[in-house]
Amino acid sequence: MSATEYLNPGCVFLPDTPEKVSEAISIFAKNDCKFAIKGGGHSAIPGAASIHDGVLMPMEYINTTEVQLQEGYIRVGAGATLGSVYEALDPYNLSAVIGRYKKVGLGLAVGAGFSYFSNSEGLTIDNVVNYEVVLANGTIGGNNNFGVVTHFDLATVATDGRVLGGIVYYPESSLDELADVIYDYHVNQAVNDIHTHTLPQYGYNGTTNETINFTPVVYNADILELPDILQPWNNTPHYKSTVHNRNYTSLAAELNDGFPDGKFQAQRIMTVYADAQLYKDIWWEFRKWMKDYQDVEGFYGLHCNMPITPRQVTQGILKGTNALGLEDAGNRTLGILYFGVTFDNKADSDRVLPDHDEFVQKMQKLAASRDLLHPYLMLTYSGWNQPVLTSYGEKNLAKLRAVQAIYDPTHVFQRLVPGGQKLPDAKQA
Ligand SMILES: Cc1cc2nc3c(=O)[nH]c(=O)nc-3n(C[C@H](O)[C@H](O)[C@H](O)COP(=O)(O)OP(=O)(O)OC[C@H]3O[C@@H](n4cnc5c(N)ncnc54)[C@H](O)[C@@H]3O)c2cc1C
Repeated sequence: MSATEYLNPGCVFLPDTPEKVSEAISIFAKNDCKFAIKGGGHSAIPGAASIHDGVLMPMEYINTTEVQLQEGYIRVGAGATLGSVYEALDPYNLSAVIGRYKKVGLGLAVGAGFSYFSNSEGLTIDNVVNYEVVLANGTIGGNNNFGVVTHFDLATVATDGRVLGGIVYYPESSLDELADVIYDYHVNQAVNDIHTHTLPQYGYNGTTNETINFTPVVYNADILELPDILQPWNNTPHYKSTVHNRNYTSLAAELNDGFPDGKFQAQRIMTVYADAQLYKDIWWEFRKWMKDYQDVEGFYGLHCNMPITPRQVTQGILKGTNALGLEDAGNRTLGILYFGVTFDNKADSDRVLPDHDEFVQKMQKLAASRDLLHPYLMLTYSGWNQPVLTSYGEKNLAKLRAVQAIYDPTHVFQRLVPGGQKLPDAKQA
């Protein structure tokens, strides 16, 4: 959890059953009491999973994992960590389309969700079979609506039980060569072999003034060597690789190492159509931008570049659950470009954060000037003031408002849950 989320709630209520969540929501609604819902607490949006003065409701006591072998899903309590889902499923040679890091929570299953299995199965939200939700009036329903999710039924994916994966670390001198490999992953590897998965990440450490790339490289099969299609990751000069045959629990644990708690953090996101030169130019600009903050105590900048392939979009359509507005990408891969900053002291926020916002807006303009900007903003990586739900397009916004009109007509979740990305009023959008 980042320090960005440390607010000062008036009290903390830890429900251990859906019934207690239901009772609490009724009381909050009747008394106009503000509250926040916390899953794994990994959102970097201040107030998304915390609150000043109101009631903080962490879901961590609702954390069971029940494998339903016959039905093909796992029922997971909303406060479970993703590591516990991998742990529950590994022994059955099964897994789920969830995030890649052990300590992250299920907030991603109400937002979007990239997974080891996304190239074949799509996003997390397209692979939730059922949501158990406490609605604004306190009733417990089984639909995907606006309320507090208490359990997620996640479709399971058959695996070999073992996977080949780990992190490959590249020095600064390899970064230009690596940029071509990243583009190849977006338009070739991820498209032509759906068992591949990588998460290209560039990191800049202000203290050492060092830039590296440390990319998780994964092949979803019980094999010992990376297949030819992933060899470009091996062939690019690197100084360390932890890629080996293991289970998903072990992979998710390794990926989480090195992400410390307690720093100030901000993230921003944009989407472009995959383009080799644009990817290079944007990364180059971010690299230049970050060097201006070398003197900020504990400064660390992270840039990730994650594909949404045509198949991922199609999976969303086939499984029929998402309102993200990606269908117009056609047969082109989209690149989800993430820009993260972390630092030690809140006092530096005034200097870093407005510039960070301005920088990403500049990159959006650069992409637009080349006709390569896509409007989608991925919720789970978004900045606090990025208009995520508006980015889904008017048709999808209307769909979401219609759902709200049925299940939360008095807008309890708009008025009383102030943090995170909210559905804009019709007049604001
Ligand atoms: C180290 C790290 C690794 C990450 N890895 C991935 C990854 O592999 N793939 C990926 O797609 N994303 C990843 N993310 C982004 C992550 O998906 C988002 O930060 C996500 O919001 C985290 O969910 P959470 O439950 O931990 O967070 P929280 O901050 O607790 O929740 C996020 C939002 O969802 C709401 N929410 C949470 N639970 C519920 C509920 N039960 N009912 C209703 N609303 C709820 C909260 O109110 C909050 O607004 C990563 C983030 C970090 C910091």
